[in-house]
Amino acid sequence: MLIKPPSRTDLHAAYEAAGCPVCGMLKRSERRYIDATLYEHVTDVRWRAEVRAARGFCTLHTRDVLEVGRSALGVSLVAGDILKTLRESLTATSSSGGALGRLRAAIGGGSGLAAALQPQQPCPICTYLADLGAVYVVALLDDLTTDEGRAAYERSVGLCLPHLLAAARCGGPGLSPLVDQQARVWERLEGELSEFARKSDYRFSDETIEAERDAWRRALLLLSGE
Ligand SMILES: [Zn+2]
Ligand SMILES: [Zn+2]
Repeated sequence: MLIKPPSRTDLHAAYEAAGCPVCGMLKRSERRYIDATLYEHVTDVRWRAEVRAARGFCTLHTRDVLEVGRSALGVSLVAGDILKTLRESLTATSSSGGALGRLRAAIGGGSGLAAALQPQQPCPICTYLADLGAVYVVALLDDLTTDEGRAAYERSVGLCLPHLLAAARCGGPGLSPLVDQQARVWERLEGELSEFARKSDYRFSDETIEAERDAWRRALLLLSGE
């Protein structure tokens, strides 16, 4: 799939989201990727080979693939590929696989089988999103060098820790406004967390818990990334 930077409109729309704007854009791109690869282009031989070598997708992305309804046929084809490859590895390394199999078993033992079964490359969705995430972070930093970009970003809840780290590693003039905003949103979130803790105390049980109700959830997601 093509890796291309987001438009300014997409970026500014992402700033309005309730979570990390880069994670938000990646989530949409992941949906498009799953749809394109497992529905529209499932016959792509090169991509099928990548998924086979990766032995499927990581746990997180398997869950996402299962949520995208249109991909049932694509998943069937891909899963069939992988099972066939794995079964052939079993046969090749087992003593029931004829003289060649017995010879391989004698040479490699369990470690030969383990090497044949294990993923030969990372989850293709992880790889795609990591490449795309790097492009999105650069586009964000670039946007923050403009007055318009900085003004729009003031509405953002800031980056998750993994994407903040990625931005810090990139550096450049866009980093300073990004860090300022991050300090503001973290300070606000810290305030909400302590309000939530305070109001959870029985002595203040008559006070209504308001916007800070889900601050713990937002804080955890902002640390891990989505
Ligand atoms: Zn993020
Ligand atoms: Zn993955």
